[in-house]
Amino acid sequence: MNDLARLIRAVPDFPRPGVLFRDITPLLADAGAFARCIDLLAEPWLGQGVRAVCGIESRGFIFGAALAQKLDAGFVPLRKPGKLPPPLVEVDYRLEYGTDRLQARDDALRPGERTLVADDVLATGGTLAAARELVARLGGELAGAAVVIELGALGGRARWGDGPPLHALVRY
Ligand code: IMP
Repeated sequence: MNDLARLIRAVPDFPRPGVLFRDITPLLADAGAFARCIDLLAEPWLGQGVRAVCGIESRGFIFGAALAQKLDAGFVPLRKPGKLPPPLVEVDYRLEYGTDRLQARDDALRPGERTLVADDVLATGGTLAAARELVARLGGELAGAAVVIELGALGGRARWGDGPPLHALVRY
C-alpha cells in the first residue's frame, strides 16, 4: 500500500447503509499527493503510445484529464445522459439498483486510436466494462485502464478479465 492511501477517507454507510465509501477529496486537496498520484497513474503507460484518455463522469474527469496531460494525449469525457449534444455513441450498463448509460461524441476517437480509460474507483467493474465497450464502438484501440482505487472484494478485476492491462494504485 503506498502513502496515498493515508489521504483516502473511509466513510461508513454512505451513500447507503452498509456501503463503505472511499472519499478521494483529501488526496485532491494535497498538492504534492495529487501530483504524485498522477505521476504514479501515468508511469505504466509512458512510452505505450496512448493518444487518448477517456475519463468517466465525474471523478474520472479529474484523474483522466491530468493523466492525459502527463501522457501528452487528448482527453475524452465519457458522460452520463443529457450532457452532450448529438450525434452520440452510447452504452447502457447495469448498476446494483437500476441501469445507467455512458455517452461520447460519435467522432471522439480516431479509428484505431490507442486509448486508456480512467476512473477513480473500480468496484464491481460494470462502469469500466461499459467504458471499454464504448471505446470499441467509437473505433478506438484499448490500451488498458487506470484507476486510483481497486475494491478487491467486489470482483472488478475478474470482470475486466485478461487482455489490456488494468492498473490500480491503491487496493483494499
Ligand atoms: P463499479 O461499476 O461497480 O465498478 O463502480 C465504479 C463506479 O462507482 C466508479 O465510477 C466510482 O466513481 C463509483 N464508486 C464506487 N464505489 C465508490 C467509492 O467507494 N467511492 C467513490 N466512488 C465509488
